[in-house]
Amino acid sequence: MNTVRAVMPANKHQPVISLVIPFFNEREVLPECVSRIARVMRALGEPFEVVFVDDGSEDGGADYLIARSAGLPWLRLVRLSRNFGKEAALTAGLAHSQGQAMVILDADLQDPPECLPEMVKRWRQGADVVLMQRRSRAGESWLKRASAHLYYRLLRRLSGARIPADTGDFRLMSRRAVDALLELGERNRYMKGLFAWVGMPTAVLRYDRQPRAAGRSKWNYLGLIGLALEGITSFSVAPLRWAILAGVLAALLGGGYGLWIISKALVFGDVVPGFPSLTALITFLGGIQLLTIGIVGEYVGKTYLESKRRPLYLIRDVIEAEAVGGVQVREPMAAHVRAR
Ligand code: UDP
Ligand code: MG
Repeated sequence: MNTVRAVMPANKHQPVISLVIPFFNEREVLPECVSRIARVMRALGEPFEVVFVDDGSEDGGADYLIARSAGLPWLRLVRLSRNFGKEAALTAGLAHSQGQAMVILDADLQDPPECLPEMVKRWRQGADVVLMQRRSRAGESWLKRASAHLYYRLLRRLSGARIPADTGDFRLMSRRAVDALLELGERNRYMKGLFAWVGMPTAVLRYDRQPRAAGRSKWNYLGLIGLALEGITSFSVAPLRWAILAGVLAALLGGGYGLWIISKALVFGDVVPGFPSLTALITFLGGIQLLTIGIVGEYVGKTYLESKRRPLYLIRDVIEAEAVGGVQVREPMAAHVRAR
């Protein structure tokens, strides 16, 4: 692609690059996060803003940012009314950013801001999405790495969406890609799937995922398994088909076994042995029925949650530093029924 994007007229209120950083209880890493981003972005020389989204932190992270924001006109803080989860916080951040290109970063510096210049370069060369693929994942256990590896492959096979392997939320997206993303009205924000659904010309860059700068991961294995199932059921009805397949297989097996017992009795005059095989059969069928009902229930539950049309998140306030150094609070407790 050779199209070179037009540079928008830039002033303080018209950032070209928006960084969106959702955080939840990351007080320890915020100082380094702000300094490193400031260093990289100043060197890059593009007008920019950084939209921090406080996802209901309880460790004073937002207060730190407010104190730090004096003299940093590019720093904006969107506070949610409580913890809504990273996916909702990310949506809030994207809805509040004003740049021509948005970059999503984790506050814990696992996604190095030093990759930004190369990402912006690819965008300027015409890519709507610059996807960051992990070459390595330092500081993560082999179990986490192996399960992530398997999961991405499984998800790609199962769901219709082409979700690329070994990518997280770290990426750059053009204004129109973000606008398309925000149009998707579902409550259930499985971001990786939504990103993939939007598509658009995509460049892939490889990077080394860093260990956390400080603090601890918000994920545990149970949470990750939940997210994994979420990914599959949000983007595919394949499990419903498996349920049908399991039913057909069980019926065939049961029928075949019945025929076998009858012919044995007819040919050899064997008495039907009865109890153990009956117990095995009932347990097997009962298991399949419960599993099937569970799968159907999962989809019914999803439909129920979607049908309530609740807002994705509630904004407590939006705080931005004025160039003079004062701090301004906008939009107290605004409800966002749709993302925009
Ligand atoms: N995060 C968030 N809300 C949450 C959980 C996490 O905004 O409810 C943020 C967190 O502060 C971090 C990013 O999402 O900036 C990624 O979280 P984490 O580092 O815990 O996940 P991991 O990198 O271990 O997958
Ligand atoms: Mg992390």
